[in-house]
Amino acid sequence: MHNPWIAEVWRTGLILFAALLLGVFVGQTMLFLLIAVSALLAWHLYHLYRLERWYRNRKRFHPPQAGGIWGEVYYHIYQLQQRNRRRKRKLSRMLNRFNESTSAMPDATVVLTADNRIEWFNTAARDYLGLRPKQDVGQRIDNLIRHPRFVQYLQANDFRQPLEMPSPMGGDQVFSIRVVPYGKQRRLLLVRDITRLKRLERVRQDFVANVSHELRTPLTVIAGYLENMGDAEDACATRWGKGIAQMQDQTRRMIRIVEDLLMLSRMEADDREGHRSPVAVPAILASVVEEARAISGSDGHQIELSCDSHLWLKGEEKVLYSVFSNLVFNAVRYTPPGGHIRIRWFRDEAGAYFEVEDTGIGISPQHLPRLVERFYRVDPGRSREHGGTGLGLAIVKHGLECHAARLEIESQVGEGSRFRAVFPADLIIDHQPAEAALES
Ligand code: ADP
Repeated sequence: MHNPWIAEVWRTGLILFAALLLGVFVGQTMLFLLIAVSALLAWHLYHLYRLERWYRNRKRFHPPQAGGIWGEVYYHIYQLQQRNRRRKRKLSRMLNRFNESTSAMPDATVVLTADNRIEWFNTAARDYLGLRPKQDVGQRIDNLIRHPRFVQYLQANDFRQPLEMPSPMGGDQVFSIRVVPYGKQRRLLLVRDITRLKRLERVRQDFVANVSHELRTPLTVIAGYLENMGDAEDACATRWGKGIAQMQDQTRRMIRIVEDLLMLSRMEADDREGHRSPVAVPAILASVVEEARAISGSDGHQIELSCDSHLWLKGEEKVLYSVFSNLVFNAVRYTPPGGHIRIRWFRDEAGAYFEVEDTGIGISPQHLPRLVERFYRVDPGRSREHGGTGLGLAIVKHGLECHAARLEIESQVGEGSRFRAVFPADLIIDHQPAEAALES
């Protein structure tokens, strides 16, 4: 294999040897050697100079021509340069493609630094958020979009759930905003227009609310007549007694479904935060327990309530009543006669807890994730038999969402279940009797 270094060493050796021979021949060995070494040095310096010139002025495409080791050096640098050029071209093509695709994206995308300064954004961000390409790069996004919910969302630093908010440009658009942290201290802000989705959701909600509302009056009339027919002591009542009782049962069931659907629609439709006022939870629980004992009747469940009597909540009384009663009545419905139901209302520094524990039939784990869906029942027959609508836990879920609370469910088949509602600490009211006396 041709090795330029060996050739170079040979060449240098030959030149020095020739100079040595000539020097010996003429009788000036040192002089001739010096001349040879200087010539070699000059040649190398000349090529170093050409290399430096060429490197400095790299736009000149072709490297200087040279023989020997310098030709090799030029060639390798040239190859490196060509490779870098190709890589650069590929990278900039990729970058262009990336820019084009993010610009074409219908969703607004903004790259933010750790302190929420804008680093880059696509075309949709200009239309959705009104960002200006030159002026706004480097600005803090919360200085440009000042909607309180948006500022709070950024500050809270919890991006598990998207934020829904109206367009900061005015108009009736609704946006869903997501923040995705990535790379080193960078955040991607994604904004999606969900106006159509919201409108459809609204149409669905209105439809369910209207149908339920329209059904309520006819059902009440039917229930009224059925009651009269059942109470009458004529031939018709005697003949149709069983049928009338069944019709009454089904009508009552339909009324309960309609009432539950209306309750759900009401919860979905409003911005609940505006409706909050002090709620005496202990009083609600006392009346829920009384009703639960009435429902249990001859089944003789042992219902035990332990309750912090100073623990009130900022919330909506009707909604809270629905949440608590649905959980307690479910415990009665799904616990065999004589079973034990323990209700607790207490607090710690993290929040307030409402807990219902029963020794009932329990729920197997595969049902737990879907339990709060509308009309989802583990055993539809049993649910209907106990007068269930399949909407109870959906109401509980919505009711808790209205109070920024969450539901935790633990259950074991055959052993019992524990449903726990966790309310945030900022909704707690420490209601002291002395304050009550002062108020009155
Ligand atoms: P339903 O009107 O059928 O009770 P819910 O939405 O209140 O509807 O409950 C949904 C399903 O969850 C019920 O059908 C039942 O199977 C199950 N469930 C709810 N609470 C309990 C409980 N305490 N113990 C066992 N199963 C329960």
